[in-house]
Amino acid sequence: MSFMERSNILFTPNLSILLVFFCMVIKLSLCFPVIPSSLKIQGSFSFHGNEFAARDFGNRYHFLPSAVLFPKKVSDIASTVKHVLQMGPASGLTIAARGHGHSLQGQSQAPQGIVINMESLISGQEMQIHRGRFPFVDVSAGELWINILHECLKYGLAPKSWTDYLHLTVGGTLSNAGISGQAFRHGPQISNVYQLEVVTGKGEVVVCSAEKNADLFHGVLGGLGQFGIITRARIALEPAPKMVKWIRVLYSDFSTFSRDQENLISAENTFDYIEGLVIVNKTGLVNNWRSSFSPEEPEQASKFVSDGKTLFCLELTKNFDPEESDNINQEIKFLLSELNYIPSTLFVTEVSYTKFLDRVHSAELKLRSKGLWDLPHPWLNLLVPRSKINNFAEVVFGNMLTDTNNGPVLVYPVNKSKWDNKTSVVLPEEDIFYLVAFLPHAAENDGLQNFLSLNKRILDFCEAASLGVKQYLPFYTTQVEWRRHFGARWETFVQRKLAYDPFAILAPGQRVFQRSISIL
Ligand code: FAD
Repeated sequence: MSFMERSNILFTPNLSILLVFFCMVIKLSLCFPVIPSSLKIQGSFSFHGNEFAARDFGNRYHFLPSAVLFPKKVSDIASTVKHVLQMGPASGLTIAARGHGHSLQGQSQAPQGIVINMESLISGQEMQIHRGRFPFVDVSAGELWINILHECLKYGLAPKSWTDYLHLTVGGTLSNAGISGQAFRHGPQISNVYQLEVVTGKGEVVVCSAEKNADLFHGVLGGLGQFGIITRARIALEPAPKMVKWIRVLYSDFSTFSRDQENLISAENTFDYIEGLVIVNKTGLVNNWRSSFSPEEPEQASKFVSDGKTLFCLELTKNFDPEESDNINQEIKFLLSELNYIPSTLFVTEVSYTKFLDRVHSAELKLRSKGLWDLPHPWLNLLVPRSKINNFAEVVFGNMLTDTNNGPVLVYPVNKSKWDNKTSVVLPEEDIFYLVAFLPHAAENDGLQNFLSLNKRILDFCEAASLGVKQYLPFYTTQVEWRRHFGARWETFVQRKLAYDPFAILAPGQRVFQRSISIL
């Protein structure tokens, strides 16, 4: 009889007793109230009907929390964090701040833990706008960017840096970066914040800025919610334009397209917003644009056939006020004369600043009406160094991407000099890098697996070709992968975790650190 066999015989009865014991402990701990009535808060906890907190925009990961906190005061959040701390690591309880739940892989979820519904905090906190030389707005971190825009416009002001979609919360985008077509000039949203109020993983409420508690301030920006829950933010503003000239032109050659993009983001006198799209195998493209954009040369444009070709669309805007329309037209004419797009493909429209900034919401309404908005979103966002973008484009856009009919593929460069390297966000090693975003929707039984395997092939190629690509809105499931993602910055990230959330209570959905296990 081998040792294993003997030990099985010997230990079987004891094992069953142990199993029963463990089951009882688990059952007891589940029955034990996550939140005792002695915890005094001004908001409320909900223990049922919390399915919404187990959903996100990605619609692929669903983890039900034990409770959802609807805070009324910042102190509600601090008390909850302190309570979880007091329960000790054995409770396994974690806390996730939920902004608007537009994460892709469960990042704002807390399996069996506590989700904090940040939008509830807004009711107790008015937006406060300060004019003057350096105008700013103080907002609750659960505020949606679209509401901030509307409020600031009443004072003729607006934030400087945006995301393409404004129905996201301040806390949610500042935990990543917040990148859009203004980032080449102003940097991402995390470069446009003067001050934060944060509840750390120790339950302390700390006001921080580049001057005061700077390590926490920089750590939280792009920090994936790992060091604290942002409760309030002071965001830089600028005078808001009234109108926007919105321009689209097409290229058939990627290197010509990207050279023009890079020249534009490096110039002093340039457009106010610079992005780009990859278009593969899309029929009737130019005809679709005609409903909202006018071709500069209608006859030439009508002869342009996009069918089947891989094209690159440069998207630009110039802000203006109606009284300066003539000057702006001259300026645009000059800027366009420096570009090398296909001449017949110049399309222009004029919309209000609000309509331009809220453009993706219009697309959302259309997709919702077709039942396509709530489908799973196997998105992949990459930051690609400038020196590797042609290689990337040749292989990925040229060979791997078969069409772009299920959602846009964005590609545009930004200047690294506009990013603060003290924040937690991880960037490629070059002065200019591209955001490349694959943004499809796909039903479970209709292509989801294909998109997931395409994403894997793209990532494998980047790895094999050593392109130095970094994921934006990163998704990894093991600490080895996270270490590789952070590279030399891992040490700082871990030090900050130890300083501000040593028991790994916060943002478990990012899967960087595990509660109850040594975080090192
Ligand atoms: P959630 O999904 O609720 O939370 C995201 C993460 O942040 C979670 O880990 C959560 O725990 C944490 N978190 C939330 N609130 C706080 C807080 N107050 N304090 C600390 N941590 C917090 N991103 C861009 O940069 N540019 C774009 O153009 C862009 N466009 C998008 C368009 C669409 C349609 C969608 C769905 C997403 C887009 N994103 C874009 C990505 C978006 O910025 C992130 O997914 C962002 O996290 C979503 O914000 P949210 O409020 O929904 O956050």
